[in-house]
Amino acid sequence: MAYHGGYMVALLLKQYMHLEMVRMPAPEIGPEDVLVRVRACGICGSDVHGLDGSSGRRIPPLVMGHEAAGEVAETGAAVRDLRVGERVTFDSTVSCGRCFYCARGEINLCDNRQVLGVSPGPYRRDGAFAEYVAVPRPIVYRLPDSLSFEQAALIEAVSVAVHAAGMTPVRAGDTAAVIGSGMIGLLAIQALRHAGCARVIAVDPDETRLTLARQLGATEVFNPGAGDPAAAIREMTGGRGADVAIECVGASEPVRAAIACVRKGGAVTLVGNLAPEVEFPLQAVVTRQLRVQGSCASSGEYPACIELMAKGAMRVDPLISAVAPLAEGPAWFARLYRREPGLMKVILKP
Ligand SMILES: [Zn+2]
Ligand SMILES: [Zn+2]
Repeated sequence: MAYHGGYMVALLLKQYMHLEMVRMPAPEIGPEDVLVRVRACGICGSDVHGLDGSSGRRIPPLVMGHEAAGEVAETGAAVRDLRVGERVTFDSTVSCGRCFYCARGEINLCDNRQVLGVSPGPYRRDGAFAEYVAVPRPIVYRLPDSLSFEQAALIEAVSVAVHAAGMTPVRAGDTAAVIGSGMIGLLAIQALRHAGCARVIAVDPDETRLTLARQLGATEVFNPGAGDPAAAIREMTGGRGADVAIECVGASEPVRAAIACVRKGGAVTLVGNLAPEVEFPLQAVVTRQLRVQGSCASSGEYPACIELMAKGAMRVDPLISAVAPLAEGPAWFARLYRREPGLMKVILKP
């Protein structure tokens, strides 16, 4: 397991729409870095979008992958508190620690934020669809034995949901609505339950997802194919509406539903951002005095998420659709790109 330098196998985005297994030099580490032998790396929706260049943030040649876990293979000279062989995961984003936002602890808003496996402008950080990845020590977290590498690879998604629930003003006993029961929605349901919501109502047009939503803690579910979700939620809450809602899709119709389903004075947290712009029911928000809050990525929630996952309080196993060798990466990317139904998280093992 100790690292002996040299070459490694990686899944390289050689050009748009073309992933290839290659041998390439293993990353070099600086004094503050940790070299991680990657044992599991999840395919993120943003990696799938990165495949065709439509997002503009992944410029080949590039090794993608930022949802990973593994073992410490080597530590930089200045890293004294991690040993070779320790099981770790790491944050997907690197914040600078010096800007206005970092000083306020809002590291997800960092002016100089870099995402692993993304290449914005002159920067380039190869990601974790490879045997080895180099990450700065401050974003590395130890894993308890009770968390598998595969489970740990879902921590980014868990942290997005936990952050969104944390941005939502929940009081014990509240009723929440979660619009969209994809990966983030299913995690938001669990996070809201742990934040104190007595009832969580899941809304999704896919019955399989609604079944999962129930298994993972939704007390009620509603399929918008059967009518107006906001009307249904008002009916379930004595005509008043939910106290809070988290929107996990990011399109006009679900955003409208999220805003319409909360009570007067309620709060809506927006996480989904599929569409750059949506129609906004301005008068409903103003006259019903709603709070609408965006929530982006996560900000220091990783230790809490590790704790919640290790205790089984945030369950990710039902969200893992497949675990496959890294060499099968191109085929799995193709299936995800074609939006094959029923696929959630696919994890590759280098
Ligand atoms: Zn991701
Ligand atoms: Zn910063």
